[in-house]
Amino acid sequence: MKLNKKLFTTIIMLIIVVISVTAQDYFLKNKAPFNAEVPSPEDFLGYPIGEQHTRHDQIVAYLMKLAELSDRATITTYGETHEHRKLVILTVSTPENLNNIESIKSEHLKFIDPNQTPTNYSDVPIFINLGYNVHGNEPSSSEAAMLTAYTLVASNSPEVKNYIENAVIFIDPTINPDGRDRHTQWANQFRANSLVSDGNDAEHNEAWPRGRTNHYWFDLNRDWLLAINPESRGKLKWYHEWYPNVVTDFHEMGTNSNYFFEPMKPIGSKDPIMPKENYEDLNDLFAPYFSSALDNIGSFYYTKESFDGTYPGYGSSYPDLQGGLALLFEQASSRGHLQDTDYGTISFPFTIRNQYTSSIATIKASVENKATLRKYQQDFFKSAVTQKAKTGFTAYEFGDAYDMNRNKAFIDKLLIHKIRVYKKGDKYIVPLKQPQHRMVQTMFETYNKYRDSVFYDASAWSMVNFYNLKYKGLKSANLGEEITSTDNLVTVSKVQQSNYAYIVDWDDYNATAALYFIQSKGVKVASAFKPFSINTSNGSKSFNYGSLMIPVSKQKKSSNEIYKIIKETQDKYNVPIYAINTGFSNKGIDLGSNNFRTLKKPKAALLVGNGVSSYEAGEVWHLLDTRVDMPITKLQMRNYSRANLDKYNTLVMVSGSYSQLDSVQRQKLKKWTSKGNTLVTIAGASKWVIDKKLVKEKLTEKPKDSSKTKTTKRLSYADASEHIGRERLGGAIFKVDLDLTHPLGFGYRSSTLPIYKNNTVFLTPSKNAYSTVAKYSDNPHIDGYISNDNLNIYLKPSASLIVSPIGRGRVIMFADNPNFRGSWYGTNRLFLNALFLGSHISVPKRRN
Ligand SMILES: [Zn+2]
Repeated sequence: MKLNKKLFTTIIMLIIVVISVTAQDYFLKNKAPFNAEVPSPEDFLGYPIGEQHTRHDQIVAYLMKLAELSDRATITTYGETHEHRKLVILTVSTPENLNNIESIKSEHLKFIDPNQTPTNYSDVPIFINLGYNVHGNEPSSSEAAMLTAYTLVASNSPEVKNYIENAVIFIDPTINPDGRDRHTQWANQFRANSLVSDGNDAEHNEAWPRGRTNHYWFDLNRDWLLAINPESRGKLKWYHEWYPNVVTDFHEMGTNSNYFFEPMKPIGSKDPIMPKENYEDLNDLFAPYFSSALDNIGSFYYTKESFDGTYPGYGSSYPDLQGGLALLFEQASSRGHLQDTDYGTISFPFTIRNQYTSSIATIKASVENKATLRKYQQDFFKSAVTQKAKTGFTAYEFGDAYDMNRNKAFIDKLLIHKIRVYKKGDKYIVPLKQPQHRMVQTMFETYNKYRDSVFYDASAWSMVNFYNLKYKGLKSANLGEEITSTDNLVTVSKVQQSNYAYIVDWDDYNATAALYFIQSKGVKVASAFKPFSINTSNGSKSFNYGSLMIPVSKQKKSSNEIYKIIKETQDKYNVPIYAINTGFSNKGIDLGSNNFRTLKKPKAALLVGNGVSSYEAGEVWHLLDTRVDMPITKLQMRNYSRANLDKYNTLVMVSGSYSQLDSVQRQKLKKWTSKGNTLVTIAGASKWVIDKKLVKEKLTEKPKDSSKTKTTKRLSYADASEHIGRERLGGAIFKVDLDLTHPLGFGYRSSTLPIYKNNTVFLTPSKNAYSTVAKYSDNPHIDGYISNDNLNIYLKPSASLIVSPIGRGRVIMFADNPNFRGSWYGTNRLFLNALFLGSHISVPKRRN
């Protein structure tokens, strides 16, 4: 029998409706009726939410469809990821509100302007930014974003209509699309029709580097303060245009957990610069909404026991510093579609439903407390300009006389956060009396007393120290001229042509990039191992250790060709370059001296893969790829044994277990190094080369206790994790004393340097008197938490940077992380010196 076509279509439609109703029952309870013209996520995608993981481009396409079909939504692109994925925000409200969005925005912004005092708190719709999926492999929240968007755009229930009348909701479905798609691809490719809940299945165990991080393996949930990546830079630009009152940050945690919403752990979260009302009043106002919504669907949860909002670069803390209320949510992960737990299985749809439920509860709580939130944000910005800093300072002054590009990079950060900065002579002034008062404190203040000592992450974030900029607090200050852009901040005088030589300052942050560029054009470059002063086309000038010299007549290229390359270098990197017409110095070495060493171009590889810290590896890759424009081979651990290492003169190892490197592979590494090559080890890898006896160095140990009869003090079992946690070094800033005459110290002018330490690798100073390039100062603490034992027993006597010989080669061992989160402009140079000058470092032997 031939089936009537119309009847067939009707049957199909009915099936779809039945499925939709099921999905709506599970996720969208009590939100009917829905506008039939607007497709649900399931209609659009062709599968019910939770059946598989949705690619970011499909999410964006769905939100675009909503914006196209409905007058309740508009969509904007606020940026693009490293891998060119779109970063979008869907703005949802009533058609009337969206038509008047510019005037609503200007009404809203009056509340953050300390010079205005509007009181119509309830008249202006509240601004809510629902942010999802900052960690790519915590995927439930982006699926919930589609359901939330659909609910707000299509539901005609009185409840939802009330929300959109009283709020403008900004939905950012995926903060980290590159990481999300890495995980999406993984989870979908291993999905079976008969779902496998066994935690051992490939579906539940992603390959290195996993999807949490972005393209360069950076944690974007630390980048709100540091603003290194385009995802955060785009978001911050959007943020400072809209200043939302409430911001969500959705995550996933261990499979066996339940659900977490704020308040967080009290002590650590009471940031010394945050109004206490944020933690005490606003959290208490919102928490009951989440508990009752989750109780309604039978979900379990906890609060108060963990997480802290101390570090200001989380998605759940930065908005608190902008007068908003930031909310952290953590869902137990199904990591895949279905996974076994102690209480049976946890399914992907279940995790999505909890995130969806919290999204709607957030909107409800915000709308019902509109006036309180708005008044809070107004008070926040008003107090910013009236509040006096406890330090007694009214401003900070900073500036580096030798390195304009490093000044520029820091000022760029200040401007991204809307911090006002002024130029006065060759110094820069940042007043405390300004709407971003608390961000100024964040950038410049340092702490050593903490109410809590167990931190979820870093306990130091005074960014001025990251940039190694000398700074001081001022009791009073004249401001000078405001800087509104860094575009023309660095002006170098144009280099003239010379037939003799060119000199490039090694002080400049971009000098390493300039060097690699010149070297890659086939031009020989030498480095000054002693200082000198010489006549330049701009008069007599002193040059420091490490200054680069390009001799013209010693090249295979003509003088004109060399000049062209030199000019191109200067245009590209904005570095000071000088034309020299004589080899005779006024002081110090002449240009023909043997203390100029012709530099080898680095041919570098970085070990990556299982067991290697993807964060530290990503930091190395990011630095070289985005700032030095230098390729580095990412050598997979699984290929190490058959790789020909002779292709490289430099190998970088960051923290990792390196358990795959057995004695044969370690011998291979040692043999390669001994041929004159350079092995650079960071943090855990420095400990590894000592533990495996590749070098004759030692780790700092606790002095042996002489009293043999000493009994162990009893402690309460319940306090164990707190006690053990205190001995962790989550991240703090210390002073080291640097040997400025050592090639690793070239480009520095002061022997005191702030470094970042987030590990407990403590190196004993070398027995060789010339090998300890940097040692912690006698009084090393600058900022952040460290236990007394770690400070006095381990850190103070230890070295921060050691060079240890193997045959004709050397191992350059960093105890600390010079490239932390792409933000340590101050110590990047130490690492880049290891790459560019490493081949020329010998370890002199002294007869004792
Ligand atoms: Zn997370």
